[in-house]
Amino acid sequence: MSEVVPVPALCILGATGSIGASTLDVAQRLGLPVYAVTAHRRVAELAACAVRAGARLAVIGDPALWPELRRALAGSGVAAAAGPQALCEAATAPEVGAVVAAIVGAAGLAPTIAAARAGKRLCIANKEPLVMAGPLVLAAARAGGAQIVPVDSEHSAIFQCLEGHRVEEVAELILTASGGPFRTVRDLSAVTVEQALVHPTWSMGPKITIDSATLMNKSLEVIEAQVLFGVPAERVRVLIHPQSIVHSMVAFRDGSVLAQLGLPDMRTPIQYALTWPRHRPGPVPAPDFARLGALTFEEPDRRRFPSLDLAYEAARRGGLAPAVLNAANEVAVAAFLAGRVRFLDIFAIVERALRELDDVAEPSLEDILAADAATRARYA
Ligand code: NAD
Ligand code: MG
Repeated sequence: MSEVVPVPALCILGATGSIGASTLDVAQRLGLPVYAVTAHRRVAELAACAVRAGARLAVIGDPALWPELRRALAGSGVAAAAGPQALCEAATAPEVGAVVAAIVGAAGLAPTIAAARAGKRLCIANKEPLVMAGPLVLAAARAGGAQIVPVDSEHSAIFQCLEGHRVEEVAELILTASGGPFRTVRDLSAVTVEQALVHPTWSMGPKITIDSATLMNKSLEVIEAQVLFGVPAERVRVLIHPQSIVHSMVAFRDGSVLAQLGLPDMRTPIQYALTWPRHRPGPVPAPDFARLGALTFEEPDRRRFPSLDLAYEAARRGGLAPAVLNAANEVAVAAFLAGRVRFLDIFAIVERALRELDDVAEPSLEDILAADAATRARYA
């Protein structure tokens, strides 16, 4: 068998984050060239990672930091750019073959759509744009001829289980969830930011770590799965699996179930997105099942974690509901991290935003961006 030719140079959006760092590690091990790296505000980290990765371009999202980035990169041979438009230009540069979308939150929407329109291999970790504007991202990918390969571990698992199958064969998608740090905590009214930031199995950025504690991460992933695989949310089931070894499953109509398993290390799904459709040698060993012992599964507690029902409702309603759910959650999580609201307020804020939503059917990108901005302004 001939060796698979790796995709051409990468653009890593959100290179200074948790997924970004894992992507840089995978790229280096695979010998994939990195053309562009981007970050929001951390100039020194961005410059260091651009130089280390041998990138040609570094983009800082905050335009005010352009002079600082230029100074940090002086003499390095790495070009410096800044601002939202420059993020899109990095993601669509002709030198770039694959874009790893690893910005956190709605800020990744414009570059994700730009990369899709430009026909890049689009490796998506950044789930929020898919939740907000899934049909528009898919339409852009169709128009540009882009292949979307999920990086989110559950969706990577489902993507792999579905290979060679048709969506009509599927009875149910089964998304597994670790259950987060509060799986067995009865009373969530007094939990602290510090407690919420300790995830039992995964090491991730702060926003998704809080989302895992509220199960909003899994809730967003239900909508993400509906978008990516065309299976309606009512046939996307969430199952708590505290060991995080079974990354998700597909139940087919004949009762047969396929699952993808692995250690909880994001380098596995990141690498697969980059080397798809082949599995190549990588840094993560397969699980040692005899040492792992039991793998367990349980129903999520929808009463303690109302995020799940809110997401199913938003998925069923469609329109602007998923975008409003996402925006309300982003501002609520930021407020919780800043100590301005309590843990349970996150659910209350999202619930209120959905209740008060004035919806439109088949929203345009402008409608979605306006709803996103209005929700942030109103519930911050
Ligand atoms: P992180 O906070 O560690 O990193 C986020 C990155 O995005 C940083 O490089 C930051 O500079 C950049 N960024 C933030 N705001 C920005 C803005 N306004 N404009 C431009 N850039 C901006 O986050 P993470 O944990 O790496 O997660 C990234 C995305 O991947 C999220 O959508 C998350 O849900 C998803 N994801 C993460 C994991 C994980 O293991 N960390 C797993 C699955 C999915
Ligand atoms: Mg996930």
